[in-house]
Amino acid sequence: MTPTQIDTFFATLQAANPQPASELEYTSVFELLAAVLLSAQATDVGVNKATRRLFPVANTPQKILALGQPGLESYIKTIGLFRSKAKHLLQTCQILVEQHGGEVPRTRAELEALPGVGRKTANVVLNVAFGEPTMAVDTHIFRVSNRTGLAQGKTPLAVELKLLERVPEKYLPHAHHWLILHGRYVCVARTPRCWQCAVAACCDFQPKTPTQ
Ligand code: SF4
Repeated sequence: MTPTQIDTFFATLQAANPQPASELEYTSVFELLAAVLLSAQATDVGVNKATRRLFPVANTPQKILALGQPGLESYIKTIGLFRSKAKHLLQTCQILVEQHGGEVPRTRAELEALPGVGRKTANVVLNVAFGEPTMAVDTHIFRVSNRTGLAQGKTPLAVELKLLERVPEKYLPHAHHWLILHGRYVCVARTPRCWQCAVAACCDFQPKTPTQ
């Protein structure tokens, strides 16, 4: 994709959805961090189902710690890898209480030092909660970036760095949501819906899939 095509690509996605948002449900930075931590290899829908029961009971590090491992597991057992996620979330809550006054820290280094929080989760929190122009490359963004020619790379980190280099600054705050939603609903994994894609004219992928 040329720089002009990249601009058109994002201008089109922006026009269709000026204020894109995460599909994970949360009402505080801590809830966002917990939801993203629980969402690894799980769907947002599945995580929302669990957190709708969990957060009314425990939505602070102190309250999650009070639940303990069995108590926390009982709320999240419908989510894949729930045992290790419960363990990581409890360890993270312990660190938040002991080292950050119960608050979610604002730097990448501090976020990535939390158990269960990798680069992608840190990028989501930095972007969604703190408005930083980070690019959390998940499976959808990785696929869409490579397939369209927007930012090709063999690893999520390579794609992330290329996106940061190629996406115009004015689109960076919302770019990761536009790409996730585009990958989730239009440029889907098996057969991309090119016939109903608003950005088909600026995408390198060929041949475009015909009307199904
Ligand atoms: S034209 Fe097809 S491959 Fe390109 S972004 Fe749209 S859905 Fe994806």
